[in-house]
Amino acid sequence: MMTNQDSPAVIDEPRRQDLLGLPKAELAEVLAPHIDRPYRTEQIFRALYERGVTQLDSMTELGKGLRERLGTVFTIATPEIATRSVSVDGTVKYLFRLSDGATIETVDIPDGQRRTLCISSQAGCALACRFCVTGYWGGGRNLTAGEIVAQVLTALQGPNFRLEGVNLVFMGMGEPLLNLEALSKALVVLTEKISRRRITVSTAGIIPGIEAMARWTVRPRLAISLHAPDDERRTRIMPINQKYPLADLMRVLRHYPTEPREKITFEYLLIKDLNDAMADADAVVKLIGNLAAKVNLIPLNPDPVLDPEFQTPPNSRVDAFRRRLMGQGLTATIRKRRGDDVSAACGQLRATDREPRGFRRSNLRF
Ligand code: SAH
Repeated sequence: MMTNQDSPAVIDEPRRQDLLGLPKAELAEVLAPHIDRPYRTEQIFRALYERGVTQLDSMTELGKGLRERLGTVFTIATPEIATRSVSVDGTVKYLFRLSDGATIETVDIPDGQRRTLCISSQAGCALACRFCVTGYWGGGRNLTAGEIVAQVLTALQGPNFRLEGVNLVFMGMGEPLLNLEALSKALVVLTEKISRRRITVSTAGIIPGIEAMARWTVRPRLAISLHAPDDERRTRIMPINQKYPLADLMRVLRHYPTEPREKITFEYLLIKDLNDAMADADAVVKLIGNLAAKVNLIPLNPDPVLDPEFQTPPNSRVDAFRRRLMGQGLTATIRKRRGDDVSAACGQLRATDREPRGFRRSNLRF
């Protein structure tokens, strides 16, 4: 018979609660039983998001006793930096290892006075877009709000830590609108310091998620990964289009509330001979021309795991495509390729803690 004494000596320590990613009201709630004065919440919130403090013990404004007590219940869960790769263009790619071993990538892109962090929302992606390395690796779990916020805090660590002025794009690994709860909570926290206008959430077109975002009081900017102007081609390269086809997507976007001068960004990957014809530019104009929209053209970043038929169009074609859109009154920009020498460019982020799933269905040919 097993007695208490036979049971393993080490009893699993109860998991300490992560303080990151809690909106101020929730932070106050979880701290309440453990703090002596209500203003401690504000002190802790500031330490986290104004100074980037990642150790409770470094919050010296709290007094040693309180710090120690809090340390038995709470943690500030920053990820382990598994690798940090610096591109010749200054772009920094982090491979972060999370508490359960899952890995994600986060990219820090300096651009003159600007700085943009490309944030992951899931530890993988189930959508299996044919041009995207994250999709090739397969789905992973949702990140918590704390894990989303921690990417930002960890990437910004240093003597000049400052959230204000940084741009955030949810264009890393995962589909943010399939992780709405954590996303919205992380945004409530981050928009305390970062203007909502500096934050962009990019989606492959998850309609219920867009409808949910439309109801948020603090809305970041919205970007839609369009990539093809008709259902036939879009479904071929983005299987999610079967579930949320273009007509439905456009109907929802027509009702999406934008601020007076705000535009929805349509990201359009240019793939040689697949979607880069002048007729395709015309079709894009027809599709989105009557929305408050702008287009961000992304010349395909190749990767060895992708189908070799996915090639980058020549620059002349990219420029011509842009001019064709502009000629019909659409604002269009071309996304600069950054960090590709360290596989940090768009579509090149991958999970490394497991084998890739690959693209199961072989309907790739075009
Ligand atoms: N799931 C969301 C968020 C990821 S964003 C979405 O689809 O919008 C990732 C961005 O990188 C998307 O605009 C995507 O289309 C783009 N991308 C993916 N693979 C790419 C590649 N091989 N080259 C260039 N851009 C790519």
